[in-house]
Amino acid sequence: MSARILIVEDEEPLTMLLRYNLEAEGYEVETAARGDDADTRLKEATPDLVVLDWMLPGLSGIELCRRLRARPETRQLPIIMLTARGEESEKVRGLATGADDYIVKPFSVPELLARVRALLRRANPERVATVLTIGDLELDREKKRVVRNGRPIDLGPTEYRLLEFLMERPGRVFSREQLLDGVWGSDIYIDERTVDVHVGRLRKAINRGNLTDPIRTVRGAGYSLDDRFGRMTGT
Ligand code: CA
Repeated sequence: MSARILIVEDEEPLTMLLRYNLEAEGYEVETAARGDDADTRLKEATPDLVVLDWMLPGLSGIELCRRLRARPETRQLPIIMLTARGEESEKVRGLATGADDYIVKPFSVPELLARVRALLRRANPERVATVLTIGDLELDREKKRVVRNGRPIDLGPTEYRLLEFLMERPGRVFSREQLLDGVWGSDIYIDERTVDVHVGRLRKAINRGNLTDPIRTVRGAGYSLDDRFGRMTGT
């Protein structure tokens, strides 16, 4: 069965472009042009993923996202937020509200399709891979082994868990607090600066010899593994 995607966007040409391309990928697509309409629709049926515009008539994307996260049926629903260029603080707020990913307008369609695929994969735990691969970086969970550009990399246990956590959710920005909870566990008290120290060690280990740094520091937000660093296609 193909995945169902709801596009919530009030710019009709963009909605049509997204519908066309998502349907070409084999997804079932529904659309809503107003935030409040989408809210009503999402109470009736839950799709597999939502592409949600930030600025919408009726109800803003951010408010809709907040409502979806507050309801048990849609708490885990994968959400990609669309934001306008230059809204850095909005992006941070969008992620804080619970969007899984964001994409800045104007974006390329292949970029969005890649994010959709990644999110749907992430949302299906039965399809969780033993080997995580992003660009030239490879993490084998069975062998607990990391390889970059064909070369094995020695990591301490914390750096390994940190990398695994980031590679499981490429593109998603995590605050230091979220990384502490996810990697160290929420019952342990550790200073948030500890995260910076370990990210620094991880970077040093994986970026030897002028390799591109796959870890992004997002000012005021935290860290993210750049899911685009391995792709060379310019759009
Ligand atoms: Ca809009």
